Formats: sequence, structure tokens, C-alpha cells
Amino acid sequence: MDATLGDEIRRFVREEPGNRFPGSDRPYFDQPLIGLATAVDPIWRQYQQIIGPFHRTPQEILPGAATVISWVMPVTRATRESNRRQTAQPSLEWAQTRSFGDDFLVAMRRHLVAWLQQQGWQAVAPQLEPNWQRLTESPVGLASTWSERHAAYAAGLGTFSLNDGLITPRGIAHRLGSVITDCVMLTTVAERPHYQHNCLYHRNGTCGVCIKRCPVAAISLDGHDKERCSAFVYGEQTEALGLQYGTPITGCGLCQTKVPCEQQIPV
Ligand code: SF4
Ligand code: SF4
Repeated sequence: MDATLGDEIRRFVREEPGNRFPGSDRPYFDQPLIGLATAVDPIWRQYQQIIGPFHRTPQEILPGAATVISWVMPVTRATRESNRRQTAQPSLEWAQTRSFGDDFLVAMRRHLVAWLQQQGWQAVAPQLEPNWQRLTESPVGLASTWSERHAAYAAGLGTFSLNDGLITPRGIAHRLGSVITDCVMLTTVAERPHYQHNCLYHRNGTCGVCIKRCPVAAISLDGHDKERCSAFVYGEQTEALGLQYGTPITGCGLCQTKVPCEQQIPV
């Protein structure tokens, strides 16, 4: 990977005040994993068959696109530990990370776009584009016109799990982001494993620990019920918790903590 790009991303994570809990020096996120995929990889067209034709390719978003930069921002150990203790609703630290940490991720996308543009490259953050859309009804249920998880898989950063997360070498408790540029960079993708390889249930039929962690039975051996999960995460009870916590949203993440894939690829 381009060392300068990696250095700049890591510097931003280390120094940017937005990556800090309110009134504290504690960060929301540890240093990220970074992956680079080529914009002409056939996988982007395959996504239009798997997810739907509404899912956009890098070159549809940025004509002349050459590289997709994707990152995995791991949630810190202290926040994960706070959520491990929860059984019915997320911890305060998890909710703050989900709300204010996501603001930091927006800042990260904007910064990287500006940094690339300063060097004469074109760059866009797909999720910040005005025509990025979340779809509530599609053949695959809740979906969007650019999936950060699919971008991360394309960049070789992880594989999908029973609970619809992405299990990476730093685990499943993280937030993702990506930027597309016309700058040609060397891809970090050697060979992608099977798209569900890192999940123990998909690999060998064991585990299923995330099923028991879900307070609303949104996970089963058949997979993740996105609608049921979303109804809980954005429902009245969680909204009330957000008011109590002082966070616009709380997330949940119970199925991403106190599970074998929380901080690693489980073996
Ligand atoms: S807890 Fe187990 S079954 Fe659930 S996603 Fe993680 S590895 Fe897969
Ligand atoms: S995020 Fe929460 S509600 Fe959604 S599947 Fe995981 S544990 Fe269940």
C-alpha cells in the first residue's frame, strides 16, 4: 500500500480531536486496517447481480476511478468490554462511539478526499455523495447504493458473518469507511477467501454465540433478520435510551461483543 496514504490515515486517527470521547483523551477507535481494491475488479459488477443493479460500481460513482480505499476502524477494548457486560441494550460508551465516532468517520472521509484532491487527484466518498441512498425495500431487504461492508470485502479486509457483520483480522466490532480515487495504487488484495470464511458457523457449523446475544431474536441459524434488528436499533425503546445517554443514536452491537469473533478471526 502507498505508505504516504497509510501514514496520513493513521496520523488523522491519532491526532484528530474528533476521535476522542467528550472531555477525555480516550479514543473511539484504534488504528485502522486499510485495504486497496482496483476499481475495475469484476467484483463490483458481481455485486450488481448479488445485491441489486442499484448498487453502484466505483466507475459509476467517479468516472475514471482507479482505486477504492477501504478502512476498518476497530472499536477500542474499553468500549467493547463495556458492551460485553450488557444483555439487553448497548452501553453508554458503545452508544457514544456509534453516534460521535460516526461523526469522526465522516470527518475521516472528508479529510481523505481533500488530501487526495490537494495532490491533484479526483476523489469521492460514496456515502457522502448526495445520491447515496438507503433502500428499505429491495430483493435483499435493507440495502444501500454503496455498501461499506462489500467495499471492505472487495479490498480483502474481511468476510461476512451469520449476524451480517464483517469479520476482519481485528474482529467484528468496528466501523467501516471508503473513498474512491482516480489515483492508481497497488491493490492489497491477493486472494479473497470464501465470502463467509471467517465466521465459525459458516466455516464448520459451530459457534452461533451471536444468536444468544441478541435481545430481540434477530439472529438464527438461518441468518440475520435485518428488519427485526433495525426495528430494535431505531425503535422507541432505544430512542429513549439515546435521550438518557445524550446520543442521537445508540446502535446495539451486543452480537459483536462477548462473541468469539469480537476482536479476531476465530479459530
Ligand atoms: S459469534 Fe460465531 S456464529 Fe456469530 S458471527 Fe461470530 S463467529 Fe459467526
Ligand atoms: S445489532 Fe443488536 S438487535 Fe441487531 S442483531 Fe445484533 S444484537 Fe440483535
